[in-house]
Amino acid sequence: MCGVFGAYSARDFVAEEVYLGLSALQHRGQESAGVAWIDENSRVNAIKGMGLVHEALSQSVLSNAPATSAIGHVRYSTSGGSMMQNAQPICANYAQGPVAIAHNGNLTNFLRLREELENRGAIFQSTSDTEAILQLMAHQPRRRPLEALLRALAEVRGAFSLVVLIEEGLVAARDPWGFRPLALGRRGGNYYVASESCAFNLLGVSFVRDIEAGEALLINESGLTSYRLPGGPKRRWLCSFEYVYFARPDSIIEGRSVYRARHEMGRKLARSVSDESSPPYAGPPDVDFVAPLPDSGTTAALGYSQESGVPFEAAVVRNRYVGRTFIQPTQKVRELGVRIKLSPSQDLFEGRKAVLVDDSIVRGTTAGLVVSMIRECRAEAVHLRISSPPVRYPCFYGIDTPSNGDLAAANNSLEDIARAVGADSLSYLSREDMVDAIGLPPDSLCTACFDGKYLDGRDGCGDGACPSCERVCKKIC
Ligand code: SF4
Repeated sequence: MCGVFGAYSARDFVAEEVYLGLSALQHRGQESAGVAWIDENSRVNAIKGMGLVHEALSQSVLSNAPATSAIGHVRYSTSGGSMMQNAQPICANYAQGPVAIAHNGNLTNFLRLREELENRGAIFQSTSDTEAILQLMAHQPRRRPLEALLRALAEVRGAFSLVVLIEEGLVAARDPWGFRPLALGRRGGNYYVASESCAFNLLGVSFVRDIEAGEALLINESGLTSYRLPGGPKRRWLCSFEYVYFARPDSIIEGRSVYRARHEMGRKLARSVSDESSPPYAGPPDVDFVAPLPDSGTTAALGYSQESGVPFEAAVVRNRYVGRTFIQPTQKVRELGVRIKLSPSQDLFEGRKAVLVDDSIVRGTTAGLVVSMIRECRAEAVHLRISSPPVRYPCFYGIDTPSNGDLAAANNSLEDIARAVGADSLSYLSREDMVDAIGLPPDSLCTACFDGKYLDGRDGCGDGACPSCERVCKKIC
C-alpha cells in the first residue's frame, strides 16, 4: 500500500502543497517519501528519502522549488524491497523528455514484463514494478510521452493508481478494475490528485470526483482531458480492505464515507451471530464494556457499542509516536512495536469482562500480544470481535498480506485462533455483512483476501494461465 499526491497550477508553486498532501497520506506508507517536479530547463528534479515525510523531505527546499506542477509518493513496499533505489517517484529524462511516476498498487505481470524488456535491452535501476511502466515508455522513443504512457498502461495488469508528470501535463490514471482509490480535487484554478480525499482537507481543496476505473486524466493549461484505457472489464474490483483498515476514516471513496462504513461494520458485528465464530460463542457476550484496538478498531467499536448498548471505553491506549504495526516490515519489529505502541489500562480491565474490537486478524501477532497484556491486567474475560471476515488468502494487488503460511485464518480453525490469541471467544463479521456495510454493489468490490475469488478465478493475476506470478501459483493454485 502506498499513497500518491499530485498538484497542478498554471502559476502557483505547488511542491510544498505536495509535501503537505503526503503528510496527510502518511498512514499509507512510512518507509520512504519523495516529491518530483519538472524544472524550467525541462529536466525532472526529485527529492527522496527513507522514513516519514518530515524525515525524508526538506519542507524548506520544497517551499522554494519553482514547480507549478509536482507529484509525490509515500511508500510501503509490496513489490521490491525497502531501499532507497525503490523510493518513488521514479524519474527519468528520456528521449522524449522528462517523466516522473508515483504508483499505488501492484502490477501482477511485472516479472514477465521485466524479462521481456530486459531481453530488449532494458537495464532496470530498481526492483520496483513501477519501473516497468517507465521502461515501456522508453521503448517507444518516437511517440510523445502521453501516447507512450497510455500504450504502456495498456500492457500492464493488476492494480495501479498513478500520478505521472510529463511535459504535456500531470496525468492521473487508474487501472480498469479500479483496485485502489484515486481522487480529484480543485481549489480555484489549481487541480489536485490524491490516493484519498482526506489529503484535500488540509489544503482547503474541494473534492471534485473519483478518477474513474480505466481513466487517464490529463491536467494542463487546456484544462482536463479524459482518456479511456483499453480493456473494460465486466466488473470493478475496488479493494474492500480500504474501508476495513487502510483508508483514513475521514476519506470518501466512491461516494462512501470510510467512517460510516466502519461504523456500520461495528453495528452489524454486534447484531450478528455468524458462522465465523469460535465455540463457545453463542451470541453477544455478557460484558461490562467494549474497547477498541486503537486506532483501526475505534470506529467499529463505537458502532458495536451503540448497537449493543454496552458502554464504550478507550481502555487500550495507543502511543501515537510509533507507526502502525501492520506497516512494519519484519516480525521482530512488529512484535516489539505492539508493546511499544499499545497499553491496556489496568484500572479499567481488572476484574471486568470486555469485548475487544479490532478491524482484522492477519498474522494474529497484534491480537495475541494485546490479549496477553490485558490478561496481565487481571481481566475476568476478553472476547475478541473482528469487524471483517477472516483473512485467508494473500493479496496481489498492492497490499502486503503475508503468504498463506503466515495468515492465521488460512491454516487454523477459528477455535484454534481464539486459543492461540488467548481470547475467551472470537467472532468475525461475515463477508455479506461487510459488503453490506460498505454500501457499494457486491460485484464492484474485491474481497479476494477473504474468499479467494481473484480477478479471473484462483490464478490471481487475471492473465488466465498465470504466466508471470510464480508466487501466485505456488501459494494458491
Ligand atoms: S485481495 Fe484483499 S487487500 Fe487485496 S485488493 Fe482485494 S480486498 Fe484489497
